[in-house]
Amino acid sequence: MKHAPLVQELIDAFTCLPGVGPRSAQRMAYWLLERNREGGNRLSEALSAAMEGVKHCEQCRNFAEETLCPVCLDTRRDQALVCIVESPADVLAIEMSGEFRGRYFVLMGHLSPIDGIGPRDIGLDALEQQVKNGSVQEIILATSTTVEGEATAHYIFDMTHGTSVSVSRIAQGVPMGGELEFVDGVTLAHALRGRQKVPHSS
Ligand SMILES: [Zn+2]
Repeated sequence: MKHAPLVQELIDAFTCLPGVGPRSAQRMAYWLLERNREGGNRLSEALSAAMEGVKHCEQCRNFAEETLCPVCLDTRRDQALVCIVESPADVLAIEMSGEFRGRYFVLMGHLSPIDGIGPRDIGLDALEQQVKNGSVQEIILATSTTVEGEATAHYIFDMTHGTSVSVSRIAQGVPMGGELEFVDGVTLAHALRGRQKVPHSS
C-alpha cells in the first residue's frame, strides 16, 4: 500500500530524528494524524519557531536567541575563566552543580578524524582567536574522558602554548569513557574543584 503523498512526506521527515527508522516514523505520523492533531500542530509550530529563532552564541557557541547567550552577557560571571565542554547538555549539567562562575565554550562535538571532524568544525579557530586576543585567562578542559574527548583536550592544551593562559583538566570522579552530561551534580562539583593544572613542558 502506498501512503498519500502528505502522509509519506511526514513519515520521511520523522526519520531525520536519531534512532528513528521507517517503522517508528510511520507509527509517530499515524499517531499524530489519528489521535493528536493538537499535539501535532504544537510540534510543528515549536519546530518552526526553534529552527528559525535558535542560533549559536557568537562567543561560546551555545544555543542562543540573541547574538550572545545569557551566560556570556552576565557581568557577574568571570568572562576570562572558560570551561570547555562538548555539548549544551554538559553546560546544563555543570550549571546544575552550582559550582562554576565562569563562562563556557561549547564545541558541539569533539575531534574525530575518522568522521572527518577537524578543529574548525568544532570552533577551535574561534577559540584560538579568543586565547590570542587575551579575553581568556584560564581554561578548564571538561571534554569527556573518551579517546576523542582526550584528544580534543590535548589539542586545545597545545593551542595555549606560548600564552599565559592557565589550563586545568577535570578528571576526578568523572569515570573514564564517561560523558559529562550523565555525571551527577555532586560528582561534577567535586571534579571541578579538584581540577588538575596541566603544566606546559618547557
Ligand atoms: Zn555564550
